[in-house]
Amino acid sequence: MTTLEVRGLTKDFSLRSGLRQSRFRAVDDVSFTLTPGRTVALVGESGSGKSTVARMIARLERPTAGEIVATRPDGTRVGDRDYRDHVQMVFQDPFASLNPFHTVEHHLARPLKLHGRTKGREDTRRTVEQLLERVNLTPAADIARRRPHELSGGQRQRVAIARALAPGARVVVADEPVSMLDVSIRLGVLNLLARLQREDDLAVLYITHDLATARHFSDEILVMYRGRVVERGPADEVILNPRHPYTRILAAAAPDPEARDRDRLREALGLEPAGGSTLPGDDPGCAFRDRCPSAMEICARRPEDVAVGPDHHVTCRLYPGDGRDARPAGDGTTAGRPA
Ligand code: SF4
Repeated sequence: MTTLEVRGLTKDFSLRSGLRQSRFRAVDDVSFTLTPGRTVALVGESGSGKSTVARMIARLERPTAGEIVATRPDGTRVGDRDYRDHVQMVFQDPFASLNPFHTVEHHLARPLKLHGRTKGREDTRRTVEQLLERVNLTPAADIARRRPHELSGGQRQRVAIARALAPGARVVVADEPVSMLDVSIRLGVLNLLARLQREDDLAVLYITHDLATARHFSDEILVMYRGRVVERGPADEVILNPRHPYTRILAAAAPDPEARDRDRLREALGLEPAGGSTLPGDDPGCAFRDRCPSAMEICARRPEDVAVGPDHHVTCRLYPGDGRDARPAGDGTTAGRPA
């Protein structure tokens, strides 16, 4: 079993526009822990920084600051060489993540061999079939011979999940694993992830914009806005009793499985179309204050993390430090709150 600690993770990017070069902070001082058998959901809109967090954990991006530490049950730190044995990623687009020229067997046999999980051809073939059976792809021998284009989107994502398990991973980062799948098969893939987690005691980071599935499949939820975690807590508590104005708006818009709902949400938040925003990371105040219905003068100074309940934290000036709301109910921030 592996525990993964993310401490103070920060990522800056450079942007060039003509002769001008600027920097923006995509991820700002994010910390959390992934423990065996538990799922943490990272929730937020496009541009919130959640996928950048995933890419840093998967070592596809290098952090500007902070660290990611994987630890074995005996307390020893997982070194660079073994890191990928322990931590694997499931990407959003199962078609792009699989090479169209190779068979399913090739995709699964490769990590098995690379990570020394099998000995010889027969052992590899048998293990590939076992992996396919674990993700409910049967008859396994037949599926193993196919290429990605001969599979449905759901089947391809199941192959991607099997590939993540092939090296014996104990930490799985699932970045929007069902958002590109047909609505009718999303639940099946999420249930599969949940079953595998129980069977293998996996630590899972589930990245999504969908609060409804985040609540159902996670133990803890972290809400990100413009690179910062603005609220965190037990999944039920964050969804049923959201405290940050941004979380309240998100919760009021959930469930949100379709693109038109996302557009409605973006409209409600006054956000630019997806992919069109850049984020000023050096902004000293609350990043949400331009759109917050409860913004106050003091919000021009960066809010601190405040406990508002057992394991429930929020980064907002509405909470003076003792968990009380500094504003009377009905001032606008409660308008979007679910009944
Ligand atoms: Fe709104 Fe101020 Fe809280 Fe930011 S700190 S969410 S602007 S009330």
